[in-house]
Amino acid sequence: MISLVHVDRQFQSMKKEILECVEKVLDSGQYILGEQGELFEKEASDYLNNSFTVNVANGTDALVLALRALDIGVGDEIITTPFTFFATAEAISRVRATPVFVDIDPITFNINENEIEKKVTNRTKAIIPVHLFGQACNMDQIKKIADNHNLYIVEDACQAFGGEWKGAKLGTIGDIGCFSFFPTKNLSTIGDGGLVVTKHHDIAERIKKLRHHGSRVKYMHDEVGYNSRLDELHASILRVCLTKIDRWNEERYQKALIYKKHLSDLSAFILPPTPSNKEHVYHLYCVEHHDRDKIVQYLSNKNIASGIYYPEPLHLQNVYQHLGYSVGDFPTSEEKSKSLFALPMHPFLTEEEQMRVIDALKEYEQRNIE
Ligand SMILES: *Cc1c(COP(=O)(O)O)cnc(C)c1O
Repeated sequence: MISLVHVDRQFQSMKKEILECVEKVLDSGQYILGEQGELFEKEASDYLNNSFTVNVANGTDALVLALRALDIGVGDEIITTPFTFFATAEAISRVRATPVFVDIDPITFNINENEIEKKVTNRTKAIIPVHLFGQACNMDQIKKIADNHNLYIVEDACQAFGGEWKGAKLGTIGDIGCFSFFPTKNLSTIGDGGLVVTKHHDIAERIKKLRHHGSRVKYMHDEVGYNSRLDELHASILRVCLTKIDRWNEERYQKALIYKKHLSDLSAFILPPTPSNKEHVYHLYCVEHHDRDKIVQYLSNKNIASGIYYPEPLHLQNVYQHLGYSVGDFPTSEEKSKSLFALPMHPFLTEEEQMRVIDALKEYEQRNIE
């Protein structure tokens, strides 16, 4: 079976280093909020070019804490995309604000910047652009809109660690950036993990407080917070992974170029864009086909995994019925939810495996032409 992602291969490739991390943490006697976490925060901050960084328990909490640190809550509206993992909108709902959706761009699948301004009201507090599948949103345009209307930008960069927009690292362009280190993300650990990045010192301090029960001085609590810390074990593993992320992202990019080279002649397939090697880190490589479900089955019969991201846009989910959206409100998101599927893509995909995927798709197209 050719898998969509192969995190086990990633961690097998560095098993010795990981076991050393486990031993070091085990021997240290310090398992939560210790030296490894601080070192990871510092190294991540250097990598992202000197913003403040705060480790948290996962990417969802990173978003929730970001919104809390901006004092976003009841009555506030947050603009985002309906074509993302649920956690983006869930974080908005968790702080009891209201997600306001804007349809996506048909080429990049990111929020359509030209549609954002129509949704701004006097209750709008922030925009959450999602760098979907690892591709940068047009941050120039989003920043302009945010500046015009005095809105915060919280970047959901959970799928795009190491990606850039015009030389600036994704996550560091808006007011706050949020990352996830869930095992399948491009920078990941062997469990849950997350990171918040910001250029504002006071926001970083507030998030440090919120992640630890609203406390900065032991047993003194200023506000109701969360238990949302990254433990030392994951921090130490992430320190090792951070030294490899550029190489892994480059591997992904090269594999995207190979897919492009071999698949661009197939007329029924629409391939994702290939901007510069920093603007897209290919957390996922998603292709469009009008007969998506058939081709997914065809690949599965040939022992090739594929994935559907995302089968139901958020405005049509049961949980958001009360928001009053209906079918047809966001036609591009709805169309892509029926036509997109992800091909195997990870740094450890072998040339032979990738050629098997390519040959299967060519064969599928050939048969459907005859
Ligand atoms: C994974 C993901 C999250 C949530 O991260 P977790 O670490 O799983 O909580 C949020 N937004 C997007 C776009 C994601 O892909």
